[in-house]
Amino acid sequence: MSYVSITNCFFAIALFSAGAPPLANEQQTSPKASNEAPIDQRKMQNEKFGLVIHGGAGTIERSKMTPQKEHEYRAGLERALRAGYEILKRGGSSLDATESAVRVLEDDPHFNAGKGSVFTSAGTNEMDAAIMDGKTLAAGAVAALKHVKNPISLARLVMEKSGHVMMDGEGAEAFARENGIELVDQKYFFTQERWEALQKIKAAEKDRTGGAGKAVFITDQDRHGTVGAVALDKNGNLAAATSTGGTTNKRPGRVGDTPVIGAGTYANNATCAVSATGDGEYFIRASVGNNISALIEYRGMSLKDAAQVALDRVAKLGGTGGLIAIDREGSIALPFNTSGMYRGYVYPNGKFVVEIYK
Ligand code: ASP
Repeated sequence: MSYVSITNCFFAIALFSAGAPPLANEQQTSPKASNEAPIDQRKMQNEKFGLVIHGGAGTIERSKMTPQKEHEYRAGLERALRAGYEILKRGGSSLDATESAVRVLEDDPHFNAGKGSVFTSAGTNEMDAAIMDGKTLAAGAVAALKHVKNPISLARLVMEKSGHVMMDGEGAEAFARENGIELVDQKYFFTQERWEALQKIKAAEKDRTGGAGKAVFITDQDRHGTVGAVALDKNGNLAAATSTGGTTNKRPGRVGDTPVIGAGTYANNATCAVSATGDGEYFIRASVGNNISALIEYRGMSLKDAAQVALDRVAKLGGTGGLIAIDREGSIALPFNTSGMYRGYVYPNGKFVVEIYK
């Protein structure tokens, strides 16, 4: 379990470092803060912000990763962090930051979302996504999309313009078309690696069932992945965004936890923002996102403890995966019960942290 308080770091640097370049810039927005006493603590608090991202949890082992591959994953995560950080730094919204970070990961073939989505048992790609605004509790979710290049942006459009919370399949894509969201041919989502993972699972299925076609277990690296972002902006607003191609060899029409508000995606300014990755069926049954928020709101639990309790519940049901979360103070939690989770966070001073293994 990783747990970091970005907030503490921020205050430590902000209060004592006229000389730290990134934060010195930040502080220029606070009029003559360094020369005049007393320092306006409320203003300083408003300057708090934070961003956490993930690119999926699973069996990710150092021994099976080439240096080149690892470099590519890390670079992709850093690009996503940068996209979100630039928005938050200049006072933009957590919704914009999470959407932008997720779009970068959707465009990167290494991650199971958008371009790099896994294949269904029918050899097609079907994507789910969701976004939630912690300030208003407005949410938008999309499921079983086949042609939307960036599902997270359609989720946002559903939230802002449809009058609904969740839309799926052809109806969602018609709504996308009407509103100028980019649609692409299914060919766009083809990647050799994902195709091979499907063939591997199909072969294993045949082997183990003698061709009967019953469900079988395969490493989670072959099976799934997801991308997500959670953020706190300078106005104290939290947001969560998650996007996925789902699980390899899923039945067409299967929907995971990602677009289920309160399961794979949740945000509430009173508590926290959460984005999950893992065996979706279990994350839905364990109501992960909503439970973390409820444990904080009703039990007064810390973010760290609440996140762990929710993930333990997934594990108890038999599920694996992880999640990222941030609370209204800027504290973050990134627990996972797999051997790895692609993940990263950024301090308000612009220091990026990217991690993969336990
Ligand atoms: N949670 C995703 C789903 O079940 C997959 C994953 O995150 O690995 O669709």
